[in-house]
Amino acid sequence: MSNCAIVGINWGDEGKGRMVDYLTDKYDIVVRYQGGGNAGHTVINNSGKFALHLIPSGIFRKGVVNVLGNGVALDPENLWQEMCSLTEKGVSVTPQNLRISERASLLMPWHRDLDALEEERLKDKKYGSTKQGIAPFYSDKYQKKTVMAGELFYPDELRSHIKDILEWKNLTISNVYGAEEYTMEKIEKWISDYCEKIKPFVCDTASFLRNAQEKGKNILFEAQLGSLRDLDLGIYPYTTSSNTTAAFAPVGSGLTTAKIDDVVGVVKAYSTCVGEGPFVCEMFGEEAQKLRDAGGEYGAKTGRPRRVGPIDLVATKYGVEVQGATCIALTKMDVLSSMEKIPVCVKYSIDGKETDKFPFPTLLGGAKPVIEYVDGWNCDISGVRSFSKLPKQARNYVKMIEKAIGCRIGYVSVGPERESMIIR
Ligand code: GDP
Repeated sequence: MSNCAIVGINWGDEGKGRMVDYLTDKYDIVVRYQGGGNAGHTVINNSGKFALHLIPSGIFRKGVVNVLGNGVALDPENLWQEMCSLTEKGVSVTPQNLRISERASLLMPWHRDLDALEEERLKDKKYGSTKQGIAPFYSDKYQKKTVMAGELFYPDELRSHIKDILEWKNLTISNVYGAEEYTMEKIEKWISDYCEKIKPFVCDTASFLRNAQEKGKNILFEAQLGSLRDLDLGIYPYTTSSNTTAAFAPVGSGLTTAKIDDVVGVVKAYSTCVGEGPFVCEMFGEEAQKLRDAGGEYGAKTGRPRRVGPIDLVATKYGVEVQGATCIALTKMDVLSSMEKIPVCVKYSIDGKETDKFPFPTLLGGAKPVIEYVDGWNCDISGVRSFSKLPKQARNYVKMIEKAIGCRIGYVSVGPERESMIIR
């Protein structure tokens, strides 16, 4: 038996989904343990091209059981739509291969509204939320003001619980934001349109996982976003509202005794960031647009252009440390193929002093990137399948990153397809 967590090292969108898709043939179970449908994994395999938001990327492998743990933000509406779009493309989604924790809290319809209303109120000080309701959802969860999926099995208690919450929530909706209050009728419709649809998938996943662990099954834990978006250890307040680190996997999955043997940290060969907040290595203008287009850096959920920059060794080293990564998967190496010289952010300069230590978030605003250039390889590497066959400059690029971040790079991805992978 061996357990593994696949996590993002940077700001998210590193290519975790393709790594889970690639590695799932070694695992019996894939568990999403935090976050919601606010970001997306893009997976390309022999079934087609898919944008997954909440459903674990193990859904494409026969025999793999996918679990949504108690730590996720369970949005019944988005989840049902995601399930339908997979089924329409011929992917089987059944209560056998998708199980939802009865302890996962429900993202209620007003969470999305409140997210949008608060971003509107903040105007130019907004956080760049995807408006999927994640921050209001987690705030309410910690205030104990939402309901758990398992309550769907107790309709009378559920309605009386929601009624109480609604009374409280409407105070904020109308008094703070001046928006239209929710009615119980509206919520009844939401329950029957979406919650009833996902109900057959809801079960006691914690005991399922404990049993699986006893039987020696291999479990893969799949995270959303990356280290720098971790609520506690990221670039607060420009983080997400959950813990994106591997350390949260035992709690968010419900398998509190899980021992995680391997932490595969996914790093992109350059940097991207969605939304607001400090992004020290950011590039602008034509150079940025070229990289953005070469990498197709537009959000899977929102279509928003991602901010781009060279690989940031300061942030990446920090990300590796907080994830406790045991191995790195370096993705999108092929995207850099047309660059003669490749910029690398090797240090930050803060108040005229250079440092390779990732600073306290408040200092990030004044940090400047220290850029060095390394030789590019200037040829198509997407067909290469062994490290020794990569051009020398590409091998040097990998080794340079490995040395700076202090973690072995075990996988180099050279294309979005399942097999476009070099194992070292
Ligand atoms: P995730 O949220 O971490 O899974 O990342 P996303 O799915 O948002 O972004 C990764 C994007 O890069 C997806 O469109 C993938 O298909 C694509 N991708 C992943 N690895 C590679 C690679 O090695 N090369 C190229 N060209 N694209 C890749």
